[in-house]
Formats: sequence, C-alpha cells, structure tokens
Amino acid sequence: MGLKNKLFAKELDKELRIKNGILTIDQNSCDGCGVCVQKCPFDAMTIIELSREQIEQLSFKGRLKVRIKGANKAFVDDHLCTVCGACMKTCHEFAIHKVVQD
Ligand code: SF4
Ligand code: SF4
Repeated sequence: MGLKNKLFAKELDKELRIKNGILTIDQNSCDGCGVCVQKCPFDAMTIIELSREQIEQLSFKGRLKVRIKGANKAFVDDHLCTVCGACMKTCHEFAIHKVVQD
C-alpha cells in the first residue's frame, strides 16, 4: 500500500472508529484460511502462527482446530483497520466480530 493510501486509511480510521468501535477475531474459530487478508482494502489483516503458549490458552475447540487446520491465525492491526466490515462478511467461520466502544 502506498503512503498516500496509508494516510487516507489512517484518517478514515479515526472517523470510523468513533462510530464503529474495534474488530476482534475469535482465535478459537479462525482456521487461518487467509481470505480476510485478501479482502481487506487497508492491508490491516495478517496471518501469524500461534506459539505453543498461545495454543495452550485456546479452548478445547480451538486446540482441536489447530490440530486439524494448523496454528495459523488472523490478526488485525487496529491502527490500519477502519472496521469497514468487508472481512466479516467473507469469514466462513464467523470468527470476526465488531466490538462497539463507548
Ligand atoms: S478470520 Fe475467518 S477469513 Fe480470516 S483467516 Fe480466520 S477463518 Fe479465514
Ligand atoms: S474491517 Fe475492513 S479494514 Fe478492518 S480488517 Fe476487516 S476488511 Fe480490513
């Protein structure tokens, strides 16, 4: 993403954050497919492999998913995310949620 787009994303972020809150990803549900990374127009999503310690903190369902699908999970950069919702609509695991802030 170019510098101009990054600055634009930051400005939009400031405006939308007031209305829309922040995004959270349920790591027990995410299977690391990467679709949200491709869909995000602001390059706010990345896939990161969980450490052993992080995997141990998951629920039973989450640890089972890691065994089947691997330890890659989506993470959002709050500074880039505008909470536009594009990724939420594409997540087949319904792992992405919006948290409304006061
Ligand atoms: S949050 Fe959803 S779309 Fe993104 S990597 Fe996880 S399962 Fe895939
Ligand atoms: S809500 Fe929009 S800006 Fe934020 S990670 Fe999802 S697609 Fe990207």
